[in-house]
Amino acid sequence: MSKKKPFITLEQAQDIIADVPTPFHLYDEKGIRENARLVNKAFAWNKGFKEYFAVKATPNPYLLQILQEEGCGVDCSSYTELLLSEACGFHGSDIMFSSNDTPVEDMKKAYDLDAYINLDDLTHVDFLQRVAGIPKTVFCRYNPGGTFDLGNGIMDNPGDAKYGMTENQMAEAYTRLMAMGAENFGIHAFLASNTVTDDYYPELAGILFELAVRLHKRTGAKIRYINLSGGVGVAYRPDQRSNDIMAIGEGVRKKFEEILVPAGMGDVAIFTEMGRFMLAPYGCLVTEAIHEKHIYKEYIGVDACAANLMRPAMYGSYHHITVLGKEDAPCDHKYDVTGGLCENNDKFAIDRMLPKIDKGDILVIHDTGAHGFSMGYNYNGKLRSAEVLLCEDGSHQLIRRAETPADYFATLDITPFYKKLKL
Ligand SMILES: *Cc1c(COP(=O)(O)O)cnc(C)c1O
Repeated sequence: MSKKKPFITLEQAQDIIADVPTPFHLYDEKGIRENARLVNKAFAWNKGFKEYFAVKATPNPYLLQILQEEGCGVDCSSYTELLLSEACGFHGSDIMFSSNDTPVEDMKKAYDLDAYINLDDLTHVDFLQRVAGIPKTVFCRYNPGGTFDLGNGIMDNPGDAKYGMTENQMAEAYTRLMAMGAENFGIHAFLASNTVTDDYYPELAGILFELAVRLHKRTGAKIRYINLSGGVGVAYRPDQRSNDIMAIGEGVRKKFEEILVPAGMGDVAIFTEMGRFMLAPYGCLVTEAIHEKHIYKEYIGVDACAANLMRPAMYGSYHHITVLGKEDAPCDHKYDVTGGLCENNDKFAIDRMLPKIDKGDILVIHDTGAHGFSMGYNYNGKLRSAEVLLCEDGSHQLIRRAETPADYFATLDITPFYKKLKL
């Protein structure tokens, strides 16, 4: 098994912990920037290429601004994500609004920010006109139905997914939008999540490029943008291979040359909305072992819990764990590593072979930079952790403080009960 190395040492972690108590999510600025540059390089062949970072993955303004400096836009799907993006200085074509089941206020806000609006359904054409207006450029989200297959089997089930519209509905949406004054169009689709293969984007691109040619012929709509959305995965397990973004970019370029260029559509801009691939490996959850317990199994209790990282409890996801300072020690102990929720699925690892863990050891839970902190919740009255940035120069910066009980109770401030709390 190849080893997964954390991006901090025990000494660095101790230095940060002296400042910010565990648990906290830590992000690696250097890794984030290098990866973002590689993404832009992989698609540099496409003139209009832009990555719109999926804000839901890691909604922290400092991280959004780093990505902004690297040329990325943002993909939002709610009012608050739009507010956050607006405050970070994103505007107009820097913002994709890819929502579904969209509330009126959210749609209005996206329109007011002049964002690229991506309609999830044919009925949203009238909805958009009624609540906001029809912008010059509109995207429509596609759902091909059935299953999405790659050479190695079924990747996902678009036919069971709530998103997007059928091809006929796409054609009708474009025709009606043109009649309402829209001039430029985009296609968007998200057909498989966390794919660990270089073939996903090229395969998806092939489907969308052919769809674009058909829709253009059928409706005369000027299709200017094709958004491959998210779904590019990362190697959570040490034995998995990482996606090669250069190979992925090249695979998409081949389809572009094969399908769009001969159809006279060589000026189409490619967009992506990656969340996981942009940040997951460049974040980790730093937590301290605070208890050990020996019953029918061996347990290590840490000071983080599923409220700080939900993926293992929710999806049974694997997150690699390194015990800092014991990187080279033999993994000869089998543990369940748990948090303190009154939920037996609150386990970061089950039957995991790790070095012998002592109370006070610092554990790094890997690949929490996307869909980690952001999925946090307050079950059992647990509080969300801090977020810390490990800056390129080796210093660190608190980019979000930990929640306090006052935050937890804040929404009761309209009740007389609130005054009784000893905060
Ligand atoms: C969640 C989401 C993304 C990002 O997905 P990743 O798996 O993080 O790449 C992009 N676009 C839309 C519309 C999404 O819902």
